[in-house]
Amino acid sequence: MAHLQGLVIAAHGRHYLIQAELDGEQHKLHCVTRGKKSDVSVGDVVEFALTSKNQGVIEAITTRKTLLYRSDQYKSKMLAANLTQLLIVIATEPSFSDDLVSRALVAAESAGIQPVLILNKTDVTASLDKARERAGLYSRLGYPVHEVSAKEQPEATRVLLETLTRGQSTILIGQSGMGKSSLINLLIPDADIATREISAALDTGKHTTTFTRLYQLDAQSYVIDSPGFQEFGLHHLSEGMLERAFPEFVPHLGKCRFYNCHHHTEPGCAILAAISNGEISSMRHELFEQLVHESKQTVGY
Ligand code: GDP
Ligand code: ZN
Repeated sequence: MAHLQGLVIAAHGRHYLIQAELDGEQHKLHCVTRGKKSDVSVGDVVEFALTSKNQGVIEAITTRKTLLYRSDQYKSKMLAANLTQLLIVIATEPSFSDDLVSRALVAAESAGIQPVLILNKTDVTASLDKARERAGLYSRLGYPVHEVSAKEQPEATRVLLETLTRGQSTILIGQSGMGKSSLINLLIPDADIATREISAALDTGKHTTTFTRLYQLDAQSYVIDSPGFQEFGLHHLSEGMLERAFPEFVPHLGKCRFYNCHHHTEPGCAILAAISNGEISSMRHELFEQLVHESKQTVGY
């Protein structure tokens, strides 16, 4: 039998919900992998064989354009495949963590995914200036920062749709309280119902909000929502990969006195010089050193 192709829109263990066109109509099918394999990710385009009217078996995963990992202790697991964008939701209140934002940026950079920041809750004017100033670090690094207030529609929806459509596949992440669910609800008003339906289809029991899922925005664009703030899997990144995931380091690479400079305390280090003259933020450099340390700790795990 000819193989069919579909898009993985939700995953739970080795159970997957696949969206596919059959006889000119869109269908959602419950598929499993063969054996005990669970190497399929939300966002994957898979080939499958039908086993009944709305069930199937996944036969192959088509070549991935990108792959983002989440961290599960020291093991990296797939979070989503074929993303073009990582959208980080921050807010005026509560205060956001620069450490988590930068870790997300490094994960995106090293996976070849465009990072975008959304500064939400601009209606909370008391904290707006401070939040803008903090977000300024990221815009100076070259990352787009869009301001919205989930309370101010339809403007917020317009800004979101402008960023998320035209063929983009985007994952939304944010610390709890930043307003990620509020923004998702603007984009997909029946998100809760859709999630309950998927949960029933995949038989996830009571754990209705503990799986990653994909919402189609138009024929070419979708967003992925994942519960909790994702701890990204960065342990597989070597020092050389980490250096290049900090865009402000890149113009200085190769200019240190020692070709194998670790940008730690070496004399003639171009990165340390750029920190001294204010071109590179010391906070970002500290995170770089921390990530190098973490990746060394896990060598050979
Ligand atoms: P999540 O944890 O990131 O999913 O955040 P929620 O969407 O649950 O929002 C957390 C809280 O912030 C809720 O009380 C929301 O009503 C509130 N909130 C979300 N967006 C805005 C906004 O743009 N302005 C204001 N003032 N409150 C917001
Ligand atoms: Zn150096």
